[in-house]
Amino acid sequence: MRGHQKSLPNLRFLKPQSTARITQGNDSIGFKFQEQQNYQRFGKENSLQIDKNNTPVSNNISKVAKQSFIQKTEPNETTQKKMECRKPSVFKFLYRPILKQNSEQSLTPRIVQPLPEINYFYYVSDLVAAYGAKDNYFNRLFKDHLQQSFMAFKQCATSKIIFRPKPFILAKDPKDTRKYTLLLDLDETLVHCSLDMRLPCDKKLNIKLSPQEILQVGLTIRPGLQTMLETLQPHFEIIIFTASHGQYAKKIVEYIDPKKIISKVLSREHCCFTDLGQYVKDLSIVKNRFLSKTILVDNSAFSYFYQIDNGVPIIPFYENKSDKQLSLLTKYLIGVIGYEDVREYNQQYLKTYLLDKLDTLEQIIDIYKGQINSKKT
Ligand SMILES: [Mg+2]
Repeated sequence: MRGHQKSLPNLRFLKPQSTARITQGNDSIGFKFQEQQNYQRFGKENSLQIDKNNTPVSNNISKVAKQSFIQKTEPNETTQKKMECRKPSVFKFLYRPILKQNSEQSLTPRIVQPLPEINYFYYVSDLVAAYGAKDNYFNRLFKDHLQQSFMAFKQCATSKIIFRPKPFILAKDPKDTRKYTLLLDLDETLVHCSLDMRLPCDKKLNIKLSPQEILQVGLTIRPGLQTMLETLQPHFEIIIFTASHGQYAKKIVEYIDPKKIISKVLSREHCCFTDLGQYVKDLSIVKNRFLSKTILVDNSAFSYFYQIDNGVPIIPFYENKSDKQLSLLTKYLIGVIGYEDVREYNQQYLKTYLLDKLDTLEQIIDIYKGQINSKKT
């Protein structure tokens, strides 16, 4: 655990913001079901009554549980309203939905992401540009992402682990001489899955979660995924590390990776779970990989809170097909080749540790501006 000893505001009321609790759309029932799952998992009292007389449990669950199988990061409206009633208002931004997904009116304006300049730093340059420009779809995503990451780190610093998976050996082909391990988050990093089948998507998938349960999702793949996998394959062992349900993740990976470049899938049971409802990905649970050679790309910053310098941020993907983040990410990751310790590379270019060390977003942006200006001169 990190030794974040600074005096921090009491952020426990932000509990519903955690990934585990937040799903998109009107999910008040789904929210309760998630609570039930957590209570069952951790041996506490079951707080949700399910009508076993009138409806088979499996069918009943299928209505309420769907969203809990997918890790989501968008706040729902109920949560947002609750939070807006609470002071201080400085936290309002956390609950401003970036984009509503639950109606036909929610389609993203088709703003094309501009190509980067020569002096371009992955994530950092876009962030600085977003703070100096008018709001548009991508600028807003960057700003919201930084704000949410900042608050997520503050939350994590006050949370306690209530479940930690046992460390394990992850099989590796002895002939595989690739130096680096790349862990990729799934939802909102590589794909977006919607439960609203009216929304446009690339593919509708039926995912069998159990003999009685089939989850139907509309899958949208982030542009550039295939090219990224093929480009990075010679240098990185590529593994999915998601906080979503394992069966769901495997089915999605089966579809998005027909060439079987992704070698393994780690899922929710491999994540730590905190008393604030966060699924944190402790990279040290994999015993036979070096942290100095492991990178985790994740749209949720708290996922890599226990190894901040191994984390690479990425803004979330929902369904905007003009998103170019995977192409930019690929170039960033190729840049690590040759480094003995990936953490040095991330510290040098991403400086994600600033989110943990500094007290305001302005301080972080100022340091990022300095990084860009020093490159120009
Ligand atoms: Mg994610």
